[in-house]
Amino acid sequence: MKDYIIIGAGQAGLAIAYYLNKQNANYLIVDANSETGAPWLKRWDSLKLFTPSEFNHLPGMKFPHKKGHYANKYEVADYLKAYVKEYNIPIEFDQKITYLKKENKVFTLKSDVKEFTAKNVIIATGPFHKPFTPKCHTKISKDIIQIHSEHYKSPNQLQEGATLVVGAGDSGVQILSEISDLDKPVYFSGNTNIMSIPQEFLGKTLWWWFSKIGFLTAHKYSWIGKKLSKGGQPVIGTDVKTLFKKKNVTCVGRTLDANEETITFEKQEINDIKNIVWATGFKPNFNWIDGIELDDDYYPKNYRGVSDNIEGLYFLGLPWLYTRGSATLGGVKKDAKYLNKYILNKVQ
Ligand SMILES: Cc1cc2nc3c(=O)[nH]c(=O)nc-3n(C[C@H](O)[C@H](O)[C@H](O)COP(=O)(O)OP(=O)(O)OC[C@H]3O[C@@H](n4cnc5c(N)ncnc54)[C@H](O)[C@@H]3O)c2cc1C
Repeated sequence: MKDYIIIGAGQAGLAIAYYLNKQNANYLIVDANSETGAPWLKRWDSLKLFTPSEFNHLPGMKFPHKKGHYANKYEVADYLKAYVKEYNIPIEFDQKITYLKKENKVFTLKSDVKEFTAKNVIIATGPFHKPFTPKCHTKISKDIIQIHSEHYKSPNQLQEGATLVVGAGDSGVQILSEISDLDKPVYFSGNTNIMSIPQEFLGKTLWWWFSKIGFLTAHKYSWIGKKLSKGGQPVIGTDVKTLFKKKNVTCVGRTLDANEETITFEKQEINDIKNIVWATGFKPNFNWIDGIELDDDYYPKNYRGVSDNIEGLYFLGLPWLYTRGSATLGGVKKDAKYLNKYILNKVQ
């Protein structure tokens, strides 16, 4: 039996492993994927970080690129791999945990092939679980290619003809920008009245400004943190106004319904769409944890990662676990450090 099992070998899992390593703890990471960095490598090919290198450090090891560089997904995956090597972090891959239950002070975890036991469990399974696609997608003709942003890699996946991109978040506008650069007709469905912020301003990176004005340290229990965490996120680094005005981009409002080739939007009906990229986000999934209490947004009830109702169960890497930075490369270490201190105090 392990003292600690961490579920998830992404940045959150690795950050808490760093601190557990320091105490020579008896721990293991289990992960559903077969390599470190897999969630990054599965994202679209042209992905660039919105955080510059100097804001991407995990505890103990600098992100190995020059200040002001916006790394691509391969560079992030390489960094995570190097991190595992540097700290000799024990990981069992290809173990998707589908069962977690605490009985008689012991957690039992089960994957398809193996059973594990532990005194404590840290859930670091990421902020994004089940891709969400509006219900009407099932009514759309099979001749139209539909891809969720989770599986979008590049325009090579698309067939000839017009493409619809749905969703006004960072993913949606970045994918729209990439596809519209090919000079093919693109429809955009979603809110066009979104705020976008440039990556640099007056010679400093946006993240530098964020750190100066306290945006990265405001926690969700403070007045300002409550406002920020409940408000919509601005798009970072894509000039949406210029994008929406491109001559091959047509903005059609929200997607309302569909019937075979015809898709109905707020502003019009369209029937020449050949591809759809749904950048419509994700829903959390913690239903596989026996006895877990969830909040109104379906995230586990916790305070700074400590489960409200199951002793010995912890969480890291959730959006706004404590601050805006909680689900970012550079921000997760603060939460991991807090959790480690909490765990240490409990053990002593
Ligand atoms: C498009 C995009 C761009 C982003 N850009 C940035 C950026 O510029 N800068 C930044 O700091 N952050 C960025 N982020 C946010 C964040 O850094 C990433 O989402 C990051 O991958 C989250 O790390 P994590 O360790 O919490 O989760 P993940 O990286 O998702 O890792 C979770 C791990 O848990 C495993 N897992 C999940 N469920 C189970 C299970 N049941 N059993 C076993 N294993 C399981 C998965 O296999 C995975 O390896 C971006 C996110 C997205 C989607």
